[in-house]
Amino acid sequence: MEKNLRSRLLLVLIVIIGLLPLNVFAASPDLGKVRLLDHSSGRVKEYISAHITLGGDDVVTDVPAIIYIEWRNNVQYSRTLVPIRAITEQLGAKVTWDNSTQTAHVYYEGKDIALTLESDTAYVNGKAVALPDGIPAKLMSYNGVNRTMVPLRFLSEEMGLNVGWDSISNVIKLNRPLQRIENISYSKNDGVEEFVITASDKVSYVDYFVDGTGLNRDSKIVLKVGNVVLAEDKIATDSNGNVVKQINQGAIKNFIAVQKTDADVPEVEMEINLSKARGYEIKEAGNQLIISLNNSVSEIYVENLIGEEYIVAKATEEPVFKVSKWPEKNKYIVDIMGTKLENAGEGIQELAINNKAIKKVTYAQLDAKEIYGEGKWVTRIVLELADFRDADKVEVKPLGTQLLIHLDKKVGEKPIEYYALDKKSSLLKILAKNAKNQSIYYDRDDNILRVKINKEDAALTKNTFEPDDQRVSRIEVGESGDYYNVKVYLSRGVSYSQEYSQTDALAFRIYTENRIVRTDKGRKLIVIDAGHGGKDPGAISPIDGTKEKDVNLKFALRLQQLLENNGFDAYLTRSTDKYLGLYTITDIANDLKADAFISIHANTAQNSSAKGIETLYGQSPLYAKAIHRNIIKMTGATDRGIKTRMDLAVIRTSDMSAVLIETGFLSNREDLKNLHDNEYIDKLNQGILNGLLEYFALE
Ligand SMILES: [Zn+2]
Repeated sequence: MEKNLRSRLLLVLIVIIGLLPLNVFAASPDLGKVRLLDHSSGRVKEYISAHITLGGDDVVTDVPAIIYIEWRNNVQYSRTLVPIRAITEQLGAKVTWDNSTQTAHVYYEGKDIALTLESDTAYVNGKAVALPDGIPAKLMSYNGVNRTMVPLRFLSEEMGLNVGWDSISNVIKLNRPLQRIENISYSKNDGVEEFVITASDKVSYVDYFVDGTGLNRDSKIVLKVGNVVLAEDKIATDSNGNVVKQINQGAIKNFIAVQKTDADVPEVEMEINLSKARGYEIKEAGNQLIISLNNSVSEIYVENLIGEEYIVAKATEEPVFKVSKWPEKNKYIVDIMGTKLENAGEGIQELAINNKAIKKVTYAQLDAKEIYGEGKWVTRIVLELADFRDADKVEVKPLGTQLLIHLDKKVGEKPIEYYALDKKSSLLKILAKNAKNQSIYYDRDDNILRVKINKEDAALTKNTFEPDDQRVSRIEVGESGDYYNVKVYLSRGVSYSQEYSQTDALAFRIYTENRIVRTDKGRKLIVIDAGHGGKDPGAISPIDGTKEKDVNLKFALRLQQLLENNGFDAYLTRSTDKYLGLYTITDIANDLKADAFISIHANTAQNSSAKGIETLYGQSPLYAKAIHRNIIKMTGATDRGIKTRMDLAVIRTSDMSAVLIETGFLSNREDLKNLHDNEYIDKLNQGILNGLLEYFALE
């Protein structure tokens, strides 16, 4: 009896002082509980998965980190096990495997740490060290992938890392040893603005960009440096202990560094506040972080708009460009000033274009100093023309952060033009003489704009265009008798206004209506998060291999358009296949002071008959109910209900109403078919929209 009590006490103590409490959940909702095969016992067991960050950056692994539990003499021991490479790879440690002794060696900063499978003794530089709680390295497999799993805290501490735990989001935080930030400086050299952050030694950080363009909000570059403090004896701080530098140069407003002490690991959050979008690059140089503000061109490609090809250069900020001509070589040259070309590759790249007037399009990264005698970089795009007389007809126009270059194939006879003016409007232009005498009808019931043009006044051809645009689904040109009939199919929530500035063309501005009650910040802002992305595929369909991250993105892109078309502002945390940190997602929503947050996910289950939709929430049941009820109503899907999940960082750490929608099961044939079907996706999204309208009407 007495012995039993002692064991119980011991158990309680171990749970309290042990590595981590047992209620550690995966940050990713799809990884709450996981089943792994333990090779030593040959048995598959269920474990709680753990989420780990290293220097603030999420550690995403093919085999999840788990809370491993072992009972010995009625005492429970628990330790976090993690695939060995999860930690070693990011730190640049070398790992070798000795098959004869079943031992992994980690070589890092002069240390040799040896861990043998199923052995409770490790060797550090040849010296035996008992593993905490006697829990050994183990060979385990998950979804058929074998990994050497090692005790996380032991290996991390031997490698000199600080191990912390964020109890709010249930995340294990690994960091380099505590450092001090001793200096922050700003300079402008060669036209490039730079912030240099000097620490006592190497630090780890995560960064992200908040684009406030068109949202009545500032844009900002955010840098979070883990396990550091501001050295108040070396650096000037204000009365709140923060560093504030007023810059007021160009787009840069100020720089703010705030000491965060709420988590158990001190962190400094830095913000460069901007009046408009700016590109940036961060370099690590020893104990310094150098943030350079410079425009970069992420992509150059050819886009087809209503049968016309446009060369598009996508930049991180508004492009500044210079045009020059080289008639002897038939070359028309566009230089995008002060830009670095990402993935520039070696030498000159070529673009395929299907335009007889243009023989060749090439682009390259060049040194601006060689060409202009100043500045750093330019991205050069060169059009080699078939006939240089066409050079006057080349159009180069900036559109937000893009630069569009266009040479019409049928110069001078461009009967219909349709292009985006900005995020919320497009221009439709139809060449026609006597513009004022043509007839225009608009029918609110079918939302079709009809234009009747006398054949004598225009030269159109029967055709149908489908612009890649959510404002207009189709433009049809038909004929009847002496007239051309142009039908413009407007999407829901889209309207038009006629521009009367031209006499030999009909011009219409087509725009998304503002129908929602405005807040003091403008329209209601909804942040949409397409779950997972980049290195994290999310769930994978056991039926056809579909990755959850791709399904989530498709939903999110279509939802953004739908919300924009219905009077909301909608911000995507990602619009491409990239990874965003677990904390970054809600940081963005919080920084933007969004009115509501929606994270889109898809499920999987062992049991292939599991199907339907569930909505997870943190602190906003009314919001979750409104969204969920409307989604079920629109889709008729199996209703798995709303569930509170306080452990999910992605909804828990947001300041606004937040939900995470599990849209269906990739492991169920019927759900999978729906998740591949745009019509179904649009129905579900319509449910979300209806839910938002209902929720905000309640306010
Ligand atoms: Zn997911």
